[in-house]
Parts: sequence; structure tokens; C-alpha cells
Amino acid sequence: MADQMSREGASFSAILGHEGPKAHLKAAIVSGQLGHAYLLEGTRGIGKKMLTDAFVKALLCEHKNEEGESCGKCASCRSFDHRNHPDVKRIGPAGDKNSISVKQIREELIKDINVRPYDSTRKVYIIEAADKLTMEAQNAMLKTLEEPPSYGIIILLAESSASFLPTILSRCVKISLQPIDQALIGSWLQRRGVPKEKANIAAAFAQGAPGQALQLCENEEFEEIRQAVFEFLTRIPEVSELEVMRGQQLWEKYKSAYDKLFSFMLVWYRDILVYQETGDLQRLLCTDQIKTIGGLAAYYSNEQLIQIVETILEIDKKLKANANPALAIDCLLMILK
Ligand SMILES: [Zn+2]
Repeated sequence: MADQMSREGASFSAILGHEGPKAHLKAAIVSGQLGHAYLLEGTRGIGKKMLTDAFVKALLCEHKNEEGESCGKCASCRSFDHRNHPDVKRIGPAGDKNSISVKQIREELIKDINVRPYDSTRKVYIIEAADKLTMEAQNAMLKTLEEPPSYGIIILLAESSASFLPTILSRCVKISLQPIDQALIGSWLQRRGVPKEKANIAAAFAQGAPGQALQLCENEEFEEIRQAVFEFLTRIPEVSELEVMRGQQLWEKYKSAYDKLFSFMLVWYRDILVYQETGDLQRLLCTDQIKTIGGLAAYYSNEQLIQIVETILEIDKKLKANANPALAIDCLLMILK
């Protein structure tokens, strides 16, 4: 996904939401009053990298506009988009390691930052997955964070700031990215060519993170499970109780993706409930299933639907607490017909 973004070129205008952080960073670029260390915090796929890229690209751009947006055409912008800008260094967990070591920080940051920029007035260090910095690594970088050379800017990206030493946090300008509205993510996906019903469902699953939504759309298993679950649930009124209990096989097959199965069931029954109670088609997520949803809204009573939704939530919780899956799923299947 990062590759896809970089092909399109980073810019503030291409970023969905995050209006406050965008305004803050653009104002810093325009005024030249920059912090020497930033911490961007937010869940996976929320837009930390895109925002950082837009910021750094504009910072280094030779012809940025008066709003603090990069030109996208100068030599600096081009090399930034090709990810080979000589004054942008990216640091992250090396190879299959799950942490950023003190050795890496000494070599790639502390030593490197003393070498002057190659052809810009700034030199920027982007530490991706900075919550993977070891304690030793954090301690080692304290002095550099506090007093980098005048041209140096260090940007830490992290899902959460909980693992940082207070002394690191106090040296950074902290920018927290908030979840994006589900409807906004849905229409953003559609603008990128994702069909409406898939976009709506991925947006509902993405917990406010556009990157996660996009990844779901590109995940074949996601689409396969969605179709399998919906097909199964569609047939319930017509098949025997025995057949419904065979739904176990579905859970067997997608054992490793329990959470997705449950989420699809929730989306499905939520839609039936919304349709039954409001008749409002605009509020449905499964827009490619309207006819079936309408039929099922007539098939189930309101009490039954509420019971089903409550049971799905309850069993999902039990399974997360290691309950016997076969038993729990039997209980759920039993009330579907
Ligand atoms: Zn430029």
C-alpha cells in the first residue's frame, strides 16, 4: 500500500481527514517555526506515514506554495517521491527483527545526523514503528533529540506513545491522529475504484483507519469470507435446521479468521434490523444485498434479530476468552432459524 501511495506522490491535499494536524504542520512550514522532533501517534493505517511524507516533502520542496504544500515537480519533490532523497533517512526494525536496536540508532541517527545535508537546508530522520525502539535505543537518542544540529529534524511514528520514556515524550511535539469518519472512508474507497458495497463494508471494519480499509479491499480472503458468510445466511429461511447446523463447517474452514466471520454476521444482522426498523436503504452497508435483506427483515421478528445480534456479540467475547468454539458456535447457529 505504501508503494501505491508513493507512486501517486505525497501531498497534504491527498490525505483524508486529519484537518487539525495538517493545518498545524502546514503552518509550521509556512512560518519556518519547526520543532526539531515530532511524534505522530495513531492506530495502524490511520495515515501517519502519508502525513509525514506530505510534511517532509513540502519542507524540502524548492517551490512550495504559500499554504505550505509541495510543488510535486522540483528535483527535491521528485527524488522524495522516488524514495531516494539524499536528505531523508528512514529508520525502522531491520530485517525480520521486531525492534530498533541501540546499534542501529547510533549508526543511522546519532552518527549520521552530524553529516551536513547533501543538497537541502534540512536533514530529516523518519523513525517508523518508533514504539519498537528498545529502552537502550531510546536512552541513547535523548541527547540528539534534545539538541540536534540546526538542520536536523527527527520524526517518530508510533501506534501508541505508551512505550516511550517520559524524557523522549517531553522533547517531541506530539500529534495524535484521530479515527476518520466511516462514511468518509467509504466514499474515499469508492473514489479509488472500489465498488460501493465492498467500500462500505471495508470502511465499517477499518476502525477509522483508511489504510486498514484499503488493505481489506485488497485482501482476497476478506472478500471470500464475506461471500461465504452472506451466502450461508441468505439460505437460512429455505433450508432445514440440520443444514443450518452444518454452518459449523464454515467456522472450521475459516478458523483463523473468527473475528471476520463474526463481524460479517454482525454487519448482516445489523442491516436486517435497520431495514426492519427504519426501511431506510441509505443506512444499509450491504448495498448489493438489498433484496435479500428486505426478505429477511420480513422473515425474522424484531425480538429474534435483537437476540441474534446480542448472541453474536456475547459469543465473540466468549471466544476471545478461550471458550470451546464448537459449543459456542452451535449455540449461535441454533437461534438463526
Ligand atoms: Zn517541489
